Amino acid sequence: MKKPDAAKLYSALLKRYPDARESPEAVCRGTPFEVLILTILSAQTTDKAVLKVKKPLFSHYPTPAKLAEADQAGVEKIIHSLGYFHAKAKNIIAASRAVLERFGGNVPRTMEELLTIPGVGRKTANIVLYHAHGMNEGIAVDTHVRRLARRIGFSDTDNVGVIERDLMALFPRKSWGDLTDVLIAHGRTTCDAKKPLCEVCVIRTDCRYYLTQ
Ligand code: SF4
Repeated sequence: MKKPDAAKLYSALLKRYPDARESPEAVCRGTPFEVLILTILSAQTTDKAVLKVKKPLFSHYPTPAKLAEADQAGVEKIIHSLGYFHAKAKNIIAASRAVLERFGGNVPRTMEELLTIPGVGRKTANIVLYHAHGMNEGIAVDTHVRRLARRIGFSDTDNVGVIERDLMALFPRKSWGDLTDVLIAHGRTTCDAKKPLCEVCVIRTDCRYYLTQ
């Protein structure tokens, strides 16, 4: 089966989710430091849960310097509800130290440098580059993007690295950051993992999953 018309689908999704990037529920808003820390914390949990800890966390630790010298138990107490809180507290303290000691307190602007920061993989780095610095270096493939890429027919694999490359080949660079945001919005509201609402989906006539049911 041939690949769906990427430009047509992207335009339909942008129209359907015009505010995806600005959603107050998105964790990736704030200063570059906040975007970095919140994105690390968002692994294996919901944006809503992360947003609940945003205020207490940054009122205690507003800068890389403050979080770098934080007591781990104190951080764990604040982010306890997120799950994996030991590892996450350790990572965000270590990430703050890295930002402070190796990057002069500024969140780096290259993929290479971001990947040296504890807790940062390619997905997190892509989100930080786009939402903190406005740079389209790649496409963040989270659980929604991975599921939708396969369902819609943009990719045929479960491998996130290959999915990212498939998407990068299909979509123009300037759309990469927004593509992640509209796919996540679509995954949350319509293309549910267990029960996709295909009958009300604006891209169903071009979706491989729908067309092969
Ligand atoms: S048609 Fe169904 S499976 Fe395809 S994108 Fe829409 S909701 Fe998801």
